[in-house]
Parts: sequence; structure tokens; C-alpha cells
Amino acid sequence: MFRRGLLYLSESHGAKQLLTGTPLTRTMSLRFVPGEGVDDLVGAVRKANAQGLKVTANYLGEAVTNRQQAQAAADTYLEVLDRVHREGLDASVSLKFTQMGQDIDEAFLRENLGRVLQRADDTGTFVRFDMEGSAYVQRTLDAFEALWRDGWRNIGVVLQAYLKRTPGDVARMNQLGARVRLCKGAYREPPEVAFQDMGRIRKEFVALMRVLLQEGSRPAIATHDDRLVEATVRHVRREGIDPTSFEFQMLYGVRRDLQKRLVEQGFTVRVYVPFGEKWYPYLMRRLAERPENVAFMVESMVKESPLGFLFGGAGTGSGGARPESRGAPPGSGRRGSGSGSGRSQSGSGGGDSGWGSHG
Ligand SMILES: Cc1cc2nc3c(=O)[nH]c(=O)nc-3n(C[C@H](O)[C@H](O)[C@H](O)COP(=O)(O)OP(=O)(O)OC[C@H]3O[C@@H](n4cnc5c(N)ncnc54)[C@H](O)[C@@H]3O)c2cc1C
Repeated sequence: MFRRGLLYLSESHGAKQLLTGTPLTRTMSLRFVPGEGVDDLVGAVRKANAQGLKVTANYLGEAVTNRQQAQAAADTYLEVLDRVHREGLDASVSLKFTQMGQDIDEAFLRENLGRVLQRADDTGTFVRFDMEGSAYVQRTLDAFEALWRDGWRNIGVVLQAYLKRTPGDVARMNQLGARVRLCKGAYREPPEVAFQDMGRIRKEFVALMRVLLQEGSRPAIATHDDRLVEATVRHVRREGIDPTSFEFQMLYGVRRDLQKRLVEQGFTVRVYVPFGEKWYPYLMRRLAERPENVAFMVESMVKESPLGFLFGGAGTGSGGARPESRGAPPGSGRRGSGSGSGRSQSGSGGGDSGWGSHG
């Protein structure tokens, strides 16, 4: 119920107006989104790299139906690629086809994307295409294969364990030699296309993880689920798989303890760092995934209040510094991003940032 409320807030324009104006929401958002600008992203990448974590950078946004916006998103990626290269940082990028113009037309998508892929190639950077709702899966894989046929090799896809079609897609990507990120899948999908039961989804995930580790090309295992991480580590050790032949991936601000532990054990961990003006729905979805985070939000509110000193807070109202709270807080210097398209994806309500909710 509470979770549904948070998901509702993620899509409500009114709630967004109200909540993004409060310093508290901005402080909370810093846990999951380092900021709105490329400087904020670069600061987070530097810090992650210093901790032994690789990064994949995501400029928040999807479902773009306006050419200028899609071109602006591509321009932002060009800036990211240049900065990462110039500063010698270890970061790839993750982007969504619908952010680059997939819903406008395929020719425009290819042209817009081509600019990013060329710059990524010039700077030796890898580009991952996030996977969106099931209505986009075939189109995304077709577009991916077209790019592969054109000779691009610095690209990879995401496949979602909850989709019933995924074993076939994994086999196809392995056959191509394409790099796959495996995740559970984040959209609310109907039972005709996706498993609904978490036990079953985990079972599928483990089976796909094994195939990818055995036959895939540098796969990424993207999960914060202890059971799945443990199953992967056990499998790798049992089969004597080279730990550098794959990587774990996790979201910025989520299970930092686990990220650290895996790095200490010699595994490669890549953190998905989102940034940009469209942080609000992304934040609300992260809160919905783990409602305990709201308790942190309330605790911060108390500590930041004028009486905060009674509870051990600074009471300055300046935004209780979390370990990675740095740079301009999201919400400051907003460029009037609007509320998103309201596009509905497989009943998830869509939204304009991050992934939908997994029901
Ligand atoms: C790097 C990366 C890329 C992804 N790319 C895609 C994509 O392209 N398309 C797509 O559909 N989905 C994507 N996802 C999302 C994915 O499909 C899942 O929805 C998401 O990862 C949650 O599943 P989980 O396996 O982490 O397990 P969960 O069961 O959700 O989480 C396991 C544990 O992690 C911790 N945790 C989870 N969320 C939070 C949180 N917000 N705050 C604090 N702790 C938390 C909790 O301890 C929880 O018990 C991606 C996920 C990652 C990590």
C-alpha cells in the first residue's frame, strides 16, 4: 500500500512540484543521484573509482518525443564521454533508446545515436542500452542487431530475467558475441510475457547467469539480491571461472556494503550512476523499492530542523551530509524539465526517468 503510494507520488506532477522544492527531498536524492549536472556526475565517478568501483553513467530520461530534447540528451552524453576521457576516469555510459528518439522515428534514432557511438568509439568507451518495457524489447534488440551489423562493437544490451522470452535472447546474444547485462526486470508486466513470482524470477536469473558466465561475452550480473550474488560467487568458484571475465553491477547508493565487500574479494563491481534534472521519479522508485529509506528521510528532517540538536543533528537546515552528499543538490538550478510524458509502459505508468516499478 505504502509502496503503491510512493509509486503514485513518482508520477504525480503536483507532488513533484511540492517535494522537489524542499531541501529534505534534495538531500535524500543525493543518496541515489549525485546531482543534475555533468560536474556532479564526474565528482561521483572520481569518488567511486577511488574506491575501486567502475561506473556506468546514465543521464536520466526516457520516452522523449521531441527531436530537440533527444538531440540535447545525445549532446549531454557527448559531454560525459569527453569529460570521462579527459580526466582518465573508468566509466562507460548507459542510455535508453527512447531517450535518443526511438519513439520519433528509427532513422532519427540511428542518426542521433550514431553521434554518441562515434564519440564513444573515439574515446574507447563502452555504451550499454538499457532495456525498457516489454513493448520495446523486440524493437530494441532489432535496433541493436542493426548496429552490430554496421560494425559497432563497443555496445551491449540488457536482458530481463522475468521475461519468458529471455533464454532465447541470451542464446542469440551469446551467438553474436554481444555483451549482456542481466537484471531481474523493473517494469510491471502481464503474466503472458513475464513471470510474476519472485522465487521463479530468481530461478530464471540463476539459470541465465550460468549460461552467460559459461558462454557469454563479459556479462554483467546486475542485482543487489544477496541470494543471487551468493549464487553467482558460488558458481564462479565451483566452476573455476576467471573473476575478471564478468562484472557485478549495482545502483549508486544501493547496498554500498555489498559493493565494497565484493571489491575486497577481488570481483569487478560497476556502479550505475544516474544524474540529471529528471531525478524525482527515479528517487521515488528507489524509495518504493525499499520503504525503510523513508525512515532515513524523516530522521534527516528531524535532525535538520531548528531543534535538530536535541536529536544529535546539526540543526543548520543545510542538508545533513551523507557520505556521498556533494556537489549541487538535485533540484537547484533546474532547467524546467516538465513532468514527463505520462507514457504508460505495461501498466507501470511509465514516467520519464529510471525504470518502472516491478510489481
Ligand atoms: C546496474 C543495474 C542496471 C539495471 N538496468 C535495468 C534495465 O536496463 N532495465 C530494467 O528493466 N531494469 C534494470 N535494472 C533494475 C532491475 O531489473 C531490478 O528492478 C532491480 O535491480 C531490483 O532487483 P534486485 O535484483 O536488485 O533485487 P531486490 O530484491 O529489489 O533487492 C535486493 C536487496 O537490495 C537492497 N535494495 C534494493 N533496492 C534498494 C534501495 N532502493 N535502497 C536500499 N536498498 C535496496 C535491499 O537490501 C533488497 O533486499 C537494473 C539494475 C541494476 C542494479
